[in-house]
Amino acid sequence: MKYAPIFITATNTNVGKTYTTLKLLEALSAKGLRVGVMKPIETGVLDVPLDATLLFETAKRFHPALAQLSLKEIVPYCFELPASPFVAKGRKKVSVEVLQKAYEKIASLCDIVLIEGAGGLLVPIEEDLYMYDFIRLFEAKTLLVGHDALGCINDILLNLHLLDSLGVEDYEWCVNFKEERESFDKITLPFLKKTFGRVLSVQDNMPLIVKSLVTNGDMNGDVL
Ligand code: GDP
Ligand code: MG
Ligand code: MG
Ligand code: MG
Repeated sequence: MKYAPIFITATNTNVGKTYTTLKLLEALSAKGLRVGVMKPIETGVLDVPLDATLLFETAKRFHPALAQLSLKEIVPYCFELPASPFVAKGRKKVSVEVLQKAYEKIASLCDIVLIEGAGGLLVPIEEDLYMYDFIRLFEAKTLLVGHDALGCINDILLNLHLLDSLGVEDYEWCVNFKEERESFDKITLPFLKKTFGRVLSVQDNMPLIVKSLVTNGDMNGDVL
């Protein structure tokens, strides 16, 4: 069974994209799916690409056939400078064809592929290519991961407005409780709950997040 890939983005770098992707990997693998991973671009890579390596090694544990791929196929572009790809790549070009081919190869071995972005949606890659373009490029559903500290309402709303204005419909958002959980309930939850009715978190609601993002188009949207 083939499912649309999930593009994992966040309100900022270090919010928990990799962490959330690993949780999704676990949850989907437990449902019997063959799950692939991809990190199209990783920056700040001195020696090994840390995100891609962690994703790839974990994915191989659940789906050993992925071992026929190389790390380079999981992360086609690595740049040394810890900066946006636009800056970090210098004169190199990021080719969407290369990325698409890499995705197709991973997807051919899997039921679903989890694609981790770099930074957030408005991170620049080329003059005419931003991180949010990966949603359309890979025809992916999107999971926005929000941080849980003061300011997250603004950061989450900005991202949701951007997704809406881009015409992206298949997205879900959640909060990753890294450390601010108690104060979140006090200072943030009241607004988000009133506005959205519910607030999903990586910690408590992975089954609902999966249900919301993994649907089979061939079966009239039946959820997994
Ligand atoms: P990314 O840059 O958005 O991919 O963020 P990461 O997933 O790499 O998370 C950044 C750092 O925070 C890493 O050191 C993670 O191990 C840590 N981290 C992320 N989410 C959690 C969480 O929910 N709980 C804890 N304890 N650590 C977390
Ligand atoms: Mg982040
Ligand atoms: Mg990171
Ligand atoms: Mg990461």
